[in-house]
Amino acid sequence: MRKMTPLLTLLGLLLIACQAINAPFISMAEPTLAPAPTAPPWPTSSNDVPPASNPGADPIPVRLPTWTSTSSLPNSLPTAPADETSAGFNAQVAEIIRQIRPEDVYNYTAGLTGEEAVTVGGRSVWIETRTTDSEGLDYATQYVAEFMQAQGLSVTYQEWENDYEEISGVNVIGELPGTVYPDEVVVISAHIDNLPERGAAPGADDNASGVVGVMLAAERLSQYRFERTIRFVIFTGEEYCLCGSAAYAWQLEREGKEIITVYNMDMIAWDGNNDGHIYIFTRESNERGADNDLAVFDTFAQVLETYTLERELVPHLADTSDEYIDSWSFWVADISSVTALEDYEYLELNPYNHTSRDTLATLNLPYFTSNVQAAVATIAHLAGILP
Ligand SMILES: [Zn+2]
Repeated sequence: MRKMTPLLTLLGLLLIACQAINAPFISMAEPTLAPAPTAPPWPTSSNDVPPASNPGADPIPVRLPTWTSTSSLPNSLPTAPADETSAGFNAQVAEIIRQIRPEDVYNYTAGLTGEEAVTVGGRSVWIETRTTDSEGLDYATQYVAEFMQAQGLSVTYQEWENDYEEISGVNVIGELPGTVYPDEVVVISAHIDNLPERGAAPGADDNASGVVGVMLAAERLSQYRFERTIRFVIFTGEEYCLCGSAAYAWQLEREGKEIITVYNMDMIAWDGNNDGHIYIFTRESNERGADNDLAVFDTFAQVLETYTLERELVPHLADTSDEYIDSWSFWVADISSVTALEDYEYLELNPYNHTSRDTLATLNLPYFTSNVQAAVATIAHLAGILP
């Protein structure tokens, strides 16, 4: 279906290893099954004007996120940092970024990977593994659900089962309702299951890192109000069949709300050569609906230009319609999605992936923290943060 460059072949091998077995409903599915969305590309700078809506188009058009500055800093302030004078700068988003600290990233990862005890259902437990059908995975999903509840979100579980793989699981969905356009939804997500070759599966990079991103998004963004609804979603079943995300994509189709995007994170904490490269996976640019994915990438890149993060990140677009990440489940349902994934170039693959040595100590904490900051800031802009 897509041309594999040697680079992408390497990625494919990694992700094939990551996913282990292809589910029948995933290989059956073809992208672009639903009618083409009518949303034009989003404006990504304050100079862009949203295109006029076409007559006959969707009567409830997506209200496009814009980069309108709400900063009161005068542009002429000579000593202001560059980011605070750039288009789209938002002082609340800068504060959110400041509040996402490496120590929180570290502590939450320690809990999810069994290095520290966590409280689940009032009991102190160690999450030593998060492999499918393990007690540890049950603890982990309940832990994240209770964490979201403690942030004041309304939390639901979505159960799924796959007869072919003979596995089942539970997704966790936390919701922060939008106050202006509640039927427009921005999703931030990650899979929580892991698949070790043998032994325990601490899965620090794959994918406690993404889950910590969702947890910190819930913790920080729940302190603010947004135009659009934000959902914080944890998938299970990724390593076998993308089953959790497929089930959630199905639920989104049935709900019929306007999904701005599903911003997924899968391995955002390993940076072998410390060059700060981060890849955003989208559909191939000529595919129907890809413009919405590419607009999310543009927003992400704009965030990196506008704000000061724990360390500098270098954004890369990977418009490859990759079949081995949870975004695939949404693309086949014609729902916009992107996946943030660390540098996968040759000699930069995480050598501990899918082993019991994928531990917190191997992670690059400034890189990890910056990826969480960038993701949360991107969501804040897409959802329209309110003063
Ligand atoms: Zn993964």
